[in-house]
Amino acid sequence: MTIGILGGGQLGYMLALAGYPLGLRFRFLDPSPEAPVGRIAPRVTADYADRAALEKFAHGLDLVTYEFENVPVDAVHFLGKRVSVFPPATALEAAQDRLREKQLFEKLGVRTTEFASVQAASDLDFALKKIGLPAVVKTRRMGYDGKGQWILTNAEEVAAAKQGLPKMPLILERFVPFERELSILAVRARSGETAFYPVVENHHREGILRLSIAPAPRVEGEIQRAAEDAACRVLESLNYVGVLAIEFFERDGELLANEMAPRVHNSGHWTIEGAVISQFENHLRAVSGLPLGSTAPIGVSAMINFIGELPEPAEVLAIPAAHLHLYGKEPRPSRKLGHVTLRAPSFEQLTARFSTLPRFFQRPEFCFDAAGKPAAQSKA
Ligand code: AMP
Repeated sequence: MTIGILGGGQLGYMLALAGYPLGLRFRFLDPSPEAPVGRIAPRVTADYADRAALEKFAHGLDLVTYEFENVPVDAVHFLGKRVSVFPPATALEAAQDRLREKQLFEKLGVRTTEFASVQAASDLDFALKKIGLPAVVKTRRMGYDGKGQWILTNAEEVAAAKQGLPKMPLILERFVPFERELSILAVRARSGETAFYPVVENHHREGILRLSIAPAPRVEGEIQRAAEDAACRVLESLNYVGVLAIEFFERDGELLANEMAPRVHNSGHWTIEGAVISQFENHLRAVSGLPLGSTAPIGVSAMINFIGELPEPAEVLAIPAAHLHLYGKEPRPSRKLGHVTLRAPSFEQLTARFSTLPRFFQRPEFCFDAAGKPAAQSKA
């Protein structure tokens, strides 16, 4: 079976690595000649809007999936006339627009922070009457890793925003003073079978994920159930096939959904070594019509992203429990270049392993306390 994947970044790379043992073959489409998958799979280097390239890409494929959620929906519809595409285009449409995404959550009874549409900066006052301060204004489309977001806490910031906001559709959200950020990875097969990984605790800095701990410490059964319930509603309503990630804010023991990604997700990288079957393999099983594998964790895992700079590989590999992943990308500020997963039988042992990490890791965002709780709090 040959699977076509739209997007050739590290997520595509890890999908292919998970699929080769199952005898699957891959072909990628990515506009960049430097896409990391170039090292391991055939690819078409072309723009997603290039119809001739899409035609060439689709030829002989058994199905298409994607690892990048800003693929133009038109390209997915074009491909969908030639070959099956999973997850469905409706999921992509919802995930590409923060307003539609929040409206979908609202319609399904999945709690979110209060939000309002802002068509132009002149609508801001009206939206602020409904939402109040502090608030976050975000571009509806093409925002990721905290880009395209402005926090408004007072009248001066509101006045400045009215002058400086980009002229494009926006969403205003009530700022959530959350205790922590959590995510769930869910998967639904073509048969309708579903499975859920344990909830993960995520720590961001400058809007970029730095550290995930899985399973998240201090998660009551109630939180796991609420996260699964939210994911289940989205999966069923969209007749979804594949892995879906939903990111939440936890506040006063409750979950507020922030956003979803209709693809494998950075907060699920730990599953490669830390779960019986990884998110990557389960995504491929789901889209190929195969039975899903166990999502059970093996001990506890911490996944650290390398952003903008890499440690010395030999130093990381000197840690006996470290699993190093390098994406083969040129270092650039804010770029995800690789990650390491540390696994241990308990939080206490994971914490002990953290204390032995080389100098590169001696930063507040990588520090744990003995209960498995990172010392640094998540920040936008
Ligand atoms: P997003 O692009 O929506 O995932 O936002 C990036 C990060 O900004 C999140 O991981 C949060 O840390 C922060 N953030 C986004 N929206 C809000 C909000 N409504 N209240 C508080 N923090 C937020």
